[in-house]
Amino acid sequence: MSTNIKEIFDLTLNFKPKEKELIEKAYLFAEKAHAGQKRMNGDPYFIHVFETAKTLAKFGMDAKTISAGLLHDVLEDTNTKESEMEKEFGKEITTLVKGVTKLGTLKYHGHERHVESLRKFFMAMANDLRVVIIKLADRLHNLKTLEYVREDKRKRIALESIDVYAPLANRLGMGKLKGEIEDAAFPYAYPKEYLETEEILKEEKELFKEYLKEVKDTLEKELKKNKIKFLVMDYRIKYKYSLYKKLLRYHMDIGKIYDIVALRIIVETVEDCYRVLGLVHSIWTPLPGRIKDYISLPKLNGYQSIHTTIFTGSGGIAEIQIRTKEMHDEAEYGIAAHFAYKESTTKNKKSQDFNNKSKFEWIEKLKDLHYSPENPEKFIENLKTDFFNDRIFIFTPKGDVIDLPDKSSSIDFAYAVHSEIGNHISGVKINGKMSQMFSVLKNGDIVEIITKKEAHPSSKWIDYAKTNDAKRHIRVYLEKNSLLSKLKSFGRT
Ligand code: MN
Repeated sequence: MSTNIKEIFDLTLNFKPKEKELIEKAYLFAEKAHAGQKRMNGDPYFIHVFETAKTLAKFGMDAKTISAGLLHDVLEDTNTKESEMEKEFGKEITTLVKGVTKLGTLKYHGHERHVESLRKFFMAMANDLRVVIIKLADRLHNLKTLEYVREDKRKRIALESIDVYAPLANRLGMGKLKGEIEDAAFPYAYPKEYLETEEILKEEKELFKEYLKEVKDTLEKELKKNKIKFLVMDYRIKYKYSLYKKLLRYHMDIGKIYDIVALRIIVETVEDCYRVLGLVHSIWTPLPGRIKDYISLPKLNGYQSIHTTIFTGSGGIAEIQIRTKEMHDEAEYGIAAHFAYKESTTKNKKSQDFNNKSKFEWIEKLKDLHYSPENPEKFIENLKTDFFNDRIFIFTPKGDVIDLPDKSSSIDFAYAVHSEIGNHISGVKINGKMSQMFSVLKNGDIVEIITKKEAHPSSKWIDYAKTNDAKRHIRVYLEKNSLLSKLKSFGRT
């Protein structure tokens, strides 16, 4: 294995000469600092940081992040002083490297440690998300060279990657990174299951490709005939770990899984997505109940695309996915798609642009998940309900979207809109119908809260609230009130 800075530059088409200069400087600095050091597999150590930087470049990160990727192990593993790095590269890059170093000193030893490492991630994330993205890229390369690591350690790293790193990448909308991390960790985390899945995939893959070959040829011709432009039409093969999880959900019945290989069509506009869908359905019969319009109703992590499953005519069944280029980039790169990539193409200098995205508002909320070292159980409970659980999107009558954990009730919704609304609910309309105040909401519900000045929370409400946000507000209200009534009765005596 060798390294060549050109490989990084080839991945970063829009960089200015100054940005390239910075990356080159970091490249040479790191190469020199790690000189003579070797990885477990005998490779020069520099290859590891080089590959990490390449991943960051591939994900469209800015020049500073790529440079920090090259430098990410310099403070921890070489004699280079922090002051020296700061002199050469400035405060911002040094802070990124320090952030990555801090995250790295952690060992994963099951449940409690898991909590601790998650907590560290959240702290880092709230400060600068780029630290976490560098760490994810770093982990991906470590996973790819895991076979040279001692067996017990190997398993620990693989499990940690699936339990902590992959969900995190998913939460950041980075579907490609999530898939790559899981697939690199899978054989070490669950060796037996991995072999089984691989066997199934090998058999089924060719079959599906055959079905799709026909579909692809016909569709290409029809699109041309109908003058619908498409940018890309290719096969996407399901990630192995993702297939394994799906097999588990379907009791290992491979016959029920139609998306092992899917035909993916990328077009220019949203209108074209629907035109392609119309055309597909006019040629092939769709399977009932399998047309999924994630464009008008995005998935919980923001994923947008149209999926449909069709009878191919020759006895086959196949899935087709249709989306725009923006939706595709967003699905693959998620939050990273909002960094340098956008900056260099749209010219508005907003590398912090992701902060404005309401989709990632939850990152801000993480700061409210107070952690106390005496009570890690409680913290993971909060995390489970507020962070990793699936979420639902609820609409206000005006069409604003509130994103809540799955199985939230109207009470959670009310408090998510505003604490004053929560504190005065007297009735609820769900999809235009008067409903129970404690009703559990479903994705896509339109909820209208009716308030009255004299309506107030009771302790019973806490049992029906799902979010910590709502529970906290109710508790605060009740405490305030019991204090008031105590004061009142005190005044009377
Ligand atoms: Mn590293």
